Amino acid sequence: MSRLDPAVDALTVTTHTVPTDAPEGDGTLTWEATTIVVVQAHAADTTGLGWTYAAPATAAVIRDELAASIVGRPAWDIPAANEAMNRAVRNIGRPGLVACAISAVDIALWDLKARLLDLPLVDLLGAARSDVPVYGSGGFTTYDDDRQDRQLRAWVEDRGIPRVKIKIGESWGGRERRDLERVVRARASIGDRTRLYVDANGAYDRKQAVRMGRALVDLDVRWFEEPVSSDDLAGLAAVRDAVVTDVAAGEYGYALPYFAAMTAARAVDCLQADATRCGGLTVWLRAAALAQAHGLDVSGHCAPHAHAHVAAAIPNLRHLEWFHDHVRIENLLFDGTLDPTGGSITPGTGGPGHGLTLRPDRAERFRVG
Ligand SMILES: [Mg+2]
Repeated sequence: MSRLDPAVDALTVTTHTVPTDAPEGDGTLTWEATTIVVVQAHAADTTGLGWTYAAPATAAVIRDELAASIVGRPAWDIPAANEAMNRAVRNIGRPGLVACAISAVDIALWDLKARLLDLPLVDLLGAARSDVPVYGSGGFTTYDDDRQDRQLRAWVEDRGIPRVKIKIGESWGGRERRDLERVVRARASIGDRTRLYVDANGAYDRKQAVRMGRALVDLDVRWFEEPVSSDDLAGLAAVRDAVVTDVAAGEYGYALPYFAAMTAARAVDCLQADATRCGGLTVWLRAAALAQAHGLDVSGHCAPHAHAHVAAAIPNLRHLEWFHDHVRIENLLFDGTLDPTGGSITPGTGGPGHGLTLRPDRAERFRVG
């Protein structure tokens, strides 16, 4: 194929495990390191960069199960490539790390195409907005009061970000009193004018979530994420009906039908979707369209730089999650990361593609595969 009709020459995959800067945890999980699987897609002497946050085994899926259906394919035809990957994994199963593998490749292909066309990715997709609002996300249950206070103040006072989120539901909902004390402390840290969000990561049962939701309203909490397990769509809907706080979920969406089930169950006020899990930018855009058809906003889950451009391409965006753990890793491994000062980012000013390049020196230091 010619330069005007380039084919994908190769995919290269590397895996990097980066220790957290302090132990991190939420209502239902704790961790001390995060693994990022990085994909580089090559065509016509140009390289596109994609990634996902997933287990190291994700890299093997990309190499062993996906690469053969991508290499040699026209670089322009990303929906066809995405579909080919979905078909290739029929017998190994898609939800989970396989969908993360597909997502990382899809993101790399979008970046590659934009670079081949010498366009910022947002211009290839077509902008619906210039600025993308973000919210500071962290407030881990493993933090002491001082660390939580410092993190929240850094977002609000140093960066001017007017929305922040902390984790609650500690120990599978076993520490309600500490959850509420931490929310009270968070409110004291950020003042009255900053929006306060909470994420229980599915830790509570239904009645407990309703009880907590009512207490949270008194603290002017506007966002109650995964009050119960996302596997319990009826439970999410019940909590949504019982509290005035917005209920949000969707981070475990690994394919479009998941989001259809979530909207059909009237489970959320705002649909979350994660481009590094759901099938890449290709499927994230479809999830956003599905949400729009149901009168819902979308919020991008984690991996903020993977979402920046695609978020600017949809009309029904609420915001992106400026997730402490991933922001730190993206700033560490990539050049060209965006500045959230003032509470939003402006994708498209950093050159072609998503404007990010891998820093080989840094990446090599944390490489595990
Ligand atoms: Mg969450």
